[in-house]
Amino acid sequence: MTPPLLTVSDLVVQYHRSGAPPVRAVAGVSLDVGPGEVVGLVGESGCGKSTLARAVCGLTAPAEGRIDFDGTPVRPLGVRRRDPALTRVQMVFQDPYGSLNPRRQIGAQIADGIRTAAERGEPTDGTTPQQYLTRVGLPESAAARYPHEFSGGQRQRIAIARALAARPRLLVGDEPISALDASAQAQVATLMRSLAVESGAGLLFISHDLSVVRLIADRIAVMYLGRIVETGSTAEVWDAPRHPYTKALLAAVPRADGAGILPTELPGDVPDPAAPPAGCRFHPRCPAAFDRCAREEPQLIAGGVACHLYAASDHGLQPLRSPH
Ligand code: SF4
Repeated sequence: MTPPLLTVSDLVVQYHRSGAPPVRAVAGVSLDVGPGEVVGLVGESGCGKSTLARAVCGLTAPAEGRIDFDGTPVRPLGVRRRDPALTRVQMVFQDPYGSLNPRRQIGAQIADGIRTAAERGEPTDGTTPQQYLTRVGLPESAAARYPHEFSGGQRQRIAIARALAARPRLLVGDEPISALDASAQAQVATLMRSLAVESGAGLLFISHDLSVVRLIADRIAVMYLGRIVETGSTAEVWDAPRHPYTKALLAAVPRADGAGILPTELPGDVPDPAAPPAGCRFHPRCPAAFDRCAREEPQLIAGGVACHLYAASDHGLQPLRSPH
């Protein structure tokens, strides 16, 4: 079996605030991504997804647990410094305009990516910035233009071309489609998938939008308030969700197969990560909560669910109570 490219084990990332206890934005997460595999990480904003992405890229130090990329521990070197080996992990951010230099031509910015790979000691394969542009569906002439001359979707394609030019083994997309209009979202997500899979790189695709993640991911991990609450193949999570939070996320997605069924809004808001609820973090919003839920935090069990409604058994997950 091919070893994973990325292994995240019992990761805790916390933010320090003056005069107050630290906030655990990521509170014990384990996750892996294999070569050529697309893993979708979904959850509402504020659930810790972006903090996890920054830690994976070596931009934030873990408080506990570990991250291994290609068999080597990921360690941040300090503010704004990254281990050169980590340039094989490339991130595509939410705001493509903010991540591109407005004063430099597109071709020069993609050439930076090519130089990054060369500085790492990788033999060049001769691909030019213009060729990277055509791979993301833009004309070669875009190389001589500037970021403001493009639409949001085109700018995100440019950001992807620049990331690809650094010849990553892992692409991390942190809400890469949420600033785009609806027509560009699926196109950019599908493009990221095909480019990652073609090159044998892994893709960790982070989004609050389960309907887009479903289009491109092989596996889905659902995150709530710093913890993974459900994980499984895309078909399992989309067609037969088990965790009440996953069910609520799905109910909030407008579905073409619903024959007019209106999406249901998720009840309440994500609690403050500085003061997570005792027991199951989802219990104040959970329609299936019972007395044990407020007392005891459920762990992610074999079968991929963290919920007291289920127990692991030799035959997979065993429901202990009706979820309704
Ligand atoms: Fe709901 Fe309890 Fe399961 Fe948490 S553990 S999701 S509160 S049923």
